[in-house]
Amino acid sequence: MPIFPKSVRRPWQPEHKPQEGRRQSNAKFYQSTAWRKLRALKIEVQPLCEECLRRGIATPARVVDHIVPINKGGAALSLANLQSLCDACHNRKSATDK
Ligand SMILES: [Zn+2]
Repeated sequence: MPIFPKSVRRPWQPEHKPQEGRRQSNAKFYQSTAWRKLRALKIEVQPLCEECLRRGIATPARVVDHIVPINKGGAALSLANLQSLCDACHNRKSATDK
């Protein structure tokens, strides 16, 4: 009786490739001209941190943040999905997003 090894290679099945990280495509996005322009526009429209403003504090915004992260389906290039944040608020949001 021939014995077939259990782990037979099946060349017709595509090899499972590890997902190329979304981070890489995100990094590319943040370098794009379209994003830079939109980001500059957002800072121009709202130069103060929106999170701080809600608490009645005026802090210069340093970061333009996606309200709904791109990898969660948020619109990448829509002003409606952007908010100006200061470093502190952005760090806090990034921490809670994870
Ligand atoms: Zn803030």
